[in-house]
Amino acid sequence: MAKSEMARISLTDLKRNFQEVEPGLTGREAVEEANRCLYCYDAPCIQACPTGIDIPTFIKKIASGNLKGSATTIMSANPVGASCARVCPTEELCEGACVLNHSTKPIMIGDLQRHATNWAIQNEQVLFHKGASNGRTVAIIGSGPAGLSAARELALLGYKVTIFEASDKAGGLNTYGIVSFRLPQQISFWEVEQVKSLDVEILTNTTVGKDISAEELQNSYDFIVLAAGMAHVPNLGIEGEELDGVYDAIEFVKETKTKQLTNEFVGKNVVVIGAGNTAIDGATCSVRLGAENVKILYRRTQVEMSAYDFEYEFAKQDGVEFRWLTQPTKIIGDENGRVKAIECLKMELGEPNEDGRRRPAPVNGTEFMIPVDAVIKAIGQTRHQSLIDQFNLEQINGVVQISETYQTSDPNVYACGDVVFGKGKGEAMVVTAAQQGKNVAYAIHHQYEKNSVTA
Ligand SMILES: Cc1cc2nc3c(=O)[nH]c(=O)nc-3n(C[C@H](O)[C@H](O)[C@H](O)COP(=O)(O)OP(=O)(O)OC[C@H]3O[C@@H](n4cnc5c(N)ncnc54)[C@H](O)[C@@H]3O)c2cc1C
Ligand code: SF4
Repeated sequence: MAKSEMARISLTDLKRNFQEVEPGLTGREAVEEANRCLYCYDAPCIQACPTGIDIPTFIKKIASGNLKGSATTIMSANPVGASCARVCPTEELCEGACVLNHSTKPIMIGDLQRHATNWAIQNEQVLFHKGASNGRTVAIIGSGPAGLSAARELALLGYKVTIFEASDKAGGLNTYGIVSFRLPQQISFWEVEQVKSLDVEILTNTTVGKDISAEELQNSYDFIVLAAGMAHVPNLGIEGEELDGVYDAIEFVKETKTKQLTNEFVGKNVVVIGAGNTAIDGATCSVRLGAENVKILYRRTQVEMSAYDFEYEFAKQDGVEFRWLTQPTKIIGDENGRVKAIECLKMELGEPNEDGRRRPAPVNGTEFMIPVDAVIKAIGQTRHQSLIDQFNLEQINGVVQISETYQTSDPNVYACGDVVFGKGKGEAMVVTAAQQGKNVAYAIHHQYEKNSVTA
């Protein structure tokens, strides 16, 4: 589209660009797809789902028209199952394990999961009831998938749960971080409401370590669950980062989910630095905001990038260009302090380093310039170092160290989700955080029962 045409993009068009991309199955399509399922004994898809959803059972319930039963099967195994239906890399998980991969095509498990949970959302279903009180209290720090999942299971087991959430809305990255055209906020809000309906209190706008200290929580609750995720995007460490038009990808996506969309990006040239899922989200948001050209710059190659394959394909379909082996070295501003170009260097790959990925090294004399209007930084996330320090927990570079039962170095403090995530492809996922939250709840309950017997 020519620049003059782009400038005419209306707010209605922009809003439409941020509506959910996948239309979802119709009732008839869902039943037809459900009827293709072979209902395998020992179904491999269940093993491949980190939350172990009984997939053949929920699919059978769709086939027989029992959508409430289907949604209950899904949500009982996965408290954020409606979000996961949209954001799981299904081809690497459940659908990748479907036996029909060997003959025709796998069952569309994610889409069926979405169909059943959509029904529950649209019909305002409350699917669970809290368990009888056991008189114990738990404080959870963070209301993302890990915190919500731990809270749901603990409430079912009879604990009185309070979640402390720094943001003004609950849901973590499901609410603020994953782009609306894949995960609209109302899906996350419904999952939050399901948890609240179990008498779980969520104190938003309350930052632990600032509004309430770690010590106060330790003195007031029987158990603590640290589910604070990761923090903002780190600095690139190059000249020009302070210029107008340089963005943190997570903040950038958050603005598209929380603020009025504007024409600011229409017709602009944007570069995104990094090649993980956050970078893809930053890039595809820029396209939907009307940017004329969006390039992802990555210092390694496609082989080493951490974005899921489906995210990569999605970005390519959106027209995002990928510049591999490209290292930004300087952001250049105009006389008004606004970004106007980025200087880069070509790289080559050397020997693998500790994480097994080949180390990029600059190729001398290959400097080049790309004229740009905006730079989006997406090179990972920093850690909540001061919070972890307040709890005095064992950690390695801000990654909280845990035992097999998710216990930290403080026996009454458990941790789950991104706060314990090290490094690697495909692990920092909503579905993994959800399962870890469940595991933490069972570990706490086990400790409580053990203490009750010995008391
Ligand atoms: C841009 C982006 C796109 C992604 N896309 C996908 C995807 O497509 N599929 C997928 O499976 N995964 C995706 N992920 C990863 C996924 O979102 C995370 O792995 C998951 O959200 C981790 O859950 P969590 O509960 O550990 O942390 P979070 O979701 O980060 O939640 C942590 C919560 O803790 C709160 N908090 C932090 N500090 C404090 C404090 N001191 N006091 C109180 N509250 C605090 C935060 O405000 C936040 O609400 C994406 C991540 C990003 C950043
Ligand atoms: S939660 Fe994710 S991995 Fe598990 S069945 Fe649903 S879509 Fe598949």
